[in-house]
Amino acid sequence: MRAILIALACLVAAPAVAAAPPNRAVADIPPRPSRFRLPPVLGPAKASLPLVVIDAGHGGHDPGSSSSDGDTHEKDVALGIAKAIRDELVESGKVRVALTRSDDRFLVLAERREIARRLRADLFISVHCDSAPSANARGASIYTLSETSSDRVSAALAARENKADVINGVDLSRETSDVSSILIDLAQRETMNVSSAFASLVQRELSPLISLKPDFHKYAGLMVLKAPDVPSVLLETGYISNDDDLALLTSTSYRGKIATGVRRAIEAHFARQRIERAEDREDM
Ligand SMILES: [Zn+2]
Repeated sequence: MRAILIALACLVAAPAVAAAPPNRAVADIPPRPSRFRLPPVLGPAKASLPLVVIDAGHGGHDPGSSSSDGDTHEKDVALGIAKAIRDELVESGKVRVALTRSDDRFLVLAERREIARRLRADLFISVHCDSAPSANARGASIYTLSETSSDRVSAALAARENKADVINGVDLSRETSDVSSILIDLAQRETMNVSSAFASLVQRELSPLISLKPDFHKYAGLMVLKAPDVPSVLLETGYISNDDDLALLTSTSYRGKIATGVRRAIEAHFARQRIERAEDREDM
């Protein structure tokens, strides 16, 4: 027990914790050092505004899923939608925004969430397109992190998405033993709750605009969502394997609807957090 307490004390005393901005909702854990370059942060130059990191899934030699004719790849559709969300957020001027990638490049899953952590992001949204053996499957859905998947489809999705890190049989993910520390477990639990609440807001704001799957919000052990201190969701924007959904996913108007719904959910999320923080201050 003594060793655990000492270890916790060391983490709490780390300089990055002392420098944390006051609006962090959960325990803060210093990001691991990394060699990658951080993307630019767009929007108003006000550090007090929340920062949202949008992650276009896949990229480079990892195309993700493909359309039935093989001509359209998830990595390109996801990037187009991520940019539409970015533009909508920059236009609104209420948050700062960064993309994990703005071109056709490969990033390992840990790198995507570490970009969010190193930028001290307040929210992380990974954008993907779904695919299914049945060409009839349609509609958008959202995933938040759980150790156990909510159903067989979610488990299959997690297996498919997590495979992005295994290239030519070499596992590129850089999990270290620290992910099992008590402090990270506690932070992760709180972060999972905030992520779930945000997923509900996305459902509320997207449902009048686009077609959602009946079981919209699901849970899966997705590596890209495992930042312990950044609320994270993975948005499946529709089925690239369905020709009707594909036509929507590649259209400017559908991308605009997704961007509008996500922007409204983000604004509601941070408005709610401001209210909760004000109430916390009154209670003190
Ligand atoms: Zn994907």
